[in-house]
Amino acid sequence: MKFASRVEKIPPYLFVEISRKIAAKRAEGIEVIDFGIGDPDLATPESVIDALKIAAVNVPNHRYPETEGMPDFRRAVANWYHRRFGITVDADSEVISLIGAKEGIGHAALCFIEPGDIALVPDPGYPVYSVGTWFAGGECHWMPLLEENGWLPDLDSIPIEVARRAKVMWLNYPNNPTGAIADLGYFEKVVEFAKKFEIAVMHDACYTDVVYDGYRHPSFLETPGALDVGVEFHSLSKTYNMTGWRIGMAVGNADMIRALLIVKSNLDSGVPQAIQKMGIEALNTTDDWIDERNAIYKRRRDKVLKALKSIGLHVDPPKASLYIWARIPEGYTSASLTEKLLEEGNIVVTPGSGYGQYGEGYIRLSLTIADDLLEKGLEQMAGLRI
Ligand SMILES: *Cc1c(COP(=O)(O)O)cnc(C)c1O
Repeated sequence: MKFASRVEKIPPYLFVEISRKIAAKRAEGIEVIDFGIGDPDLATPESVIDALKIAAVNVPNHRYPETEGMPDFRRAVANWYHRRFGITVDADSEVISLIGAKEGIGHAALCFIEPGDIALVPDPGYPVYSVGTWFAGGECHWMPLLEENGWLPDLDSIPIEVARRAKVMWLNYPNNPTGAIADLGYFEKVVEFAKKFEIAVMHDACYTDVVYDGYRHPSFLETPGALDVGVEFHSLSKTYNMTGWRIGMAVGNADMIRALLIVKSNLDSGVPQAIQKMGIEALNTTDDWIDERNAIYKRRRDKVLKALKSIGLHVDPPKASLYIWARIPEGYTSASLTEKLLEEGNIVVTPGSGYGQYGEGYIRLSLTIADDLLEKGLEQMAGLRI
């Protein structure tokens, strides 16, 4: 049989390859400590699990959901937006449920990209922006995220002819993998650029509520004019330790939401209603719960920074996200340092180059690792000569 090029030519999903290496070590009986994947180790809030228990035995929830999401879920999203960002969105036309943000991000490309079209994609970046573009037959124009630009794409350096051809721009703040943040001033420039070149802006805001030291990250939709040009993708995965339950939402421009509904309703049948009930409960989680959870990550962040410093890697503490993005010392590549940490320290980090060519020179460490393992892993790291 002959497979489509989209199956054959896509490089293996970054974590697949790393998982293979870990499995080989573990098969040898070696304990490997994994700072690789961003997948919260902590529990979903109890009240959210209770909501599932009740919803699970309610027979109407055993039936097909609506692709756009239950009205109650969409209203909960709109209320959360109002409470959290002070902005009003219409629950009927400007909100859609997603089977996790990843699903929505992948499908969103099908709403805009025809063969040969261009998507503006951050590099380094979450791989689904580019893969979704390729699956739709499009091409990526990489927007380098550089330290000297605060890890924000330099819009002025995008060639005019590329901007004219581009259909969408992907952004992600707080950022994975760099941990960077964006402010409303930057988002204003994005809106201006998008209007000038008629580009749809897709802002992946999965880490909005994983923040430190009292920092609050704005929504792209707070920017004047943002609702004319963009949507924002949210995930309950990272905010409420719900990666396994698969629920998120897209919020923003009504035409873009309608297009996403057309694609999705032909490919999936929405989020199981019992999971949407969990989502409603989750969106009502108290700020105290979030603050306490973030305090756990902050403690881990500071431990990781200290351990990195002890082996000569200096990193500014990120204000948000689950990641430490560390510049590697001279004499290494991302891959060779990752290899050394695994071979000699039995710890897994992600090579920055896995997120794109501009990720070369960095490694990423995730904070989603139980405290005892984290301590152990950091001890193993501190014992290495780098
Ligand atoms: C984890 C992650 C997602 C995926 O979120 P889900 O809702 O679990 O699909 C999307 N974007 C980024 C940047 C992520 O890190």
